[in-house]
Amino acid sequence: MEGRIINITRFCTDDGPGIRTTVFFKGCPLRCLWCHNPESQRFECEAWENGEAVGRTATVEEVLSEIREDEIFYRTSGGGATLSGGEPMAQPDFAEGILSGCRAAGIRTAMETCGFAAPAVAERLFPLCDLLLFDLKETDPARHEDFTGVPLAPILENLRRADAFGIPICLRLPVIPGLNDREEHFRAVRAIADSLTHPPQLQIMPYHRLGEHKYDRLGREYLCPETHEPTAEEKARWEKLLGI
Ligand code: SF4
Repeated sequence: MEGRIINITRFCTDDGPGIRTTVFFKGCPLRCLWCHNPESQRFECEAWENGEAVGRTATVEEVLSEIREDEIFYRTSGGGATLSGGEPMAQPDFAEGILSGCRAAGIRTAMETCGFAAPAVAERLFPLCDLLLFDLKETDPARHEDFTGVPLAPILENLRRADAFGIPICLRLPVIPGLNDREEHFRAVRAIADSLTHPPQLQIMPYHRLGEHKYDRLGREYLCPETHEPTAEEKARWEKLLGI
């Protein structure tokens, strides 16, 4: 079994608890206007403007053997392996192989997901995760489709599915000033979080410009409307509205 990845990064500390190895999958069904990882969107391998390859094929065993190299650090730090991307659920067999292999090796697992996948895929993969870093980008259905290119409803259904499995969820909220920093959006996020059986952690992911230059390097146009990196005051206001 093989799949397509961008890279495997060791010693990550932002993708779940402790020290982690994060596997970045290539390919994503969404097209978020603000995406700062455009190199992760297409499923096929491509190249930067200097010819350097973006994406490679790897087998489940190759990925697992790289993950296993840092087992000692996972044990001492409470870490593990995280699947990210791109969207791991878009390569379900590959993701399942890695998650099951981690489980068999006693390595804790997390998956960062946009939540957009067929119910059967979510039902296969969620129970193999000890933590879900679940993105919620917009709560207004029409805006969600405008911003990401996909409908909101299946994502909310999968969020409820994950909650029903009792998997700890960190709801990650990308906030882009001028697009989704609306009071009603934050209130809707709070209401969704409160409606779940297992209260999720809420984490704001403030907009940043670090990925903008990558569009040039891929020969693509950056389509995000004019926005800015938020100030400390803006972030404090959002947190207050979210009650965090
Ligand atoms: S879900 Fe993530 S990787 Fe996919 S387009 Fe949106 S920001 Fe980019």
